[in-house]
Amino acid sequence: MDELELVTANHIYIKAILLFSVSQITTFQRIVSFLRMQIDYRSILEEIFQEIRQLPDNGRVAGYIPELASIDQAKFGVHLATIDGRHYGVGDHEEKFSIQSICKVLALTLAFQQKKEELWQRVGVEPSGNPFNSLWQLEYEQGKPRNPLINSGAIVICDILCTLYKDPKTELLKFIQHLSNNTSISFNPKVAFSEKNLGFRNAALINMMKASGNIHNDIEKVLDLYYHQCSIEMSCTELASTFLLFTNHGKHISSGEQIITSSMAKRINAIMQTCGFYDEAGEFSFKVGLPGKSGIGGGIVAIYPGKYAVAVWSPRLNKKGNSVKGMELLERLTTKTGLSIF
Ligand code: GLN
Repeated sequence: MDELELVTANHIYIKAILLFSVSQITTFQRIVSFLRMQIDYRSILEEIFQEIRQLPDNGRVAGYIPELASIDQAKFGVHLATIDGRHYGVGDHEEKFSIQSICKVLALTLAFQQKKEELWQRVGVEPSGNPFNSLWQLEYEQGKPRNPLINSGAIVICDILCTLYKDPKTELLKFIQHLSNNTSISFNPKVAFSEKNLGFRNAALINMMKASGNIHNDIEKVLDLYYHQCSIEMSCTELASTFLLFTNHGKHISSGEQIITSSMAKRINAIMQTCGFYDEAGEFSFKVGLPGKSGIGGGIVAIYPGKYAVAVWSPRLNKKGNSVKGMELLERLTTKTGLSIF
């Protein structure tokens, strides 16, 4: 090797070392900025939980059945589950409560899985802009409910499940236990009994739909399923874990089983977005910006497709039947994380 060749070889060697180090630095910087981008859900949740706990106690607990009227009004919990398996809970997040109308989403999921597009012949997909138990709108629309998340729509879904299954209560419960990987989830028979004894408006709704031909089974059987689904009890942890299904495009989070197609999951999310809070669906979109569903027991579950599911429980409700502190917490969560779908 002459002198010139040696100089050139050294030059190439030094260049290679430099390039290697530069690429190492770039990778290192990428890892650092990735870690910086990871949202610190735990401290955000803890911070907003403490802020909201100190706010004045506005709203009232649901008083139409004794089991809900006597609930401890100070209960407050939140649980966030991410699609990649992280879990963060604060307050009473492990305590079971009456999920009420949140169950409408799960019953809809089972009926949609079975009936596919045919389902929409019996129930619409438009927001109602009316209270969840409105009678006049159903009368006006001749017995076809606006959507499956108001009471009339959920009752039609129960009717469909009664046609599909001999024992629809057991099938629905098995389905929910399967989605949540948790056999402890069950009905509360006392709540179901009270719902039945005091469910005068639901009885009116189903009778109107029976008269229009949109209820195919015996009224008592359909209402029995409806009242039992209202009585299901779950904790925020269980709700967030179960609703990861809609975050994960219809795939069961732990087994990978495709429970519903991704197109079905997209549609259910769209219905939650536009109809999940009755005549407050616009307000929830405006403030929180996530698909979600509330229940009169004070629970709210919301999802960010591809990222997380979050459930919150605080029993005091606003005039539209949605948890005051639950909505406030979710508004602050999407503001602080910058993660809303809009
Ligand atoms: N059990 C209640 C009813 O049927 C459920 C309503 C709700 O959670 N919004 O009226």
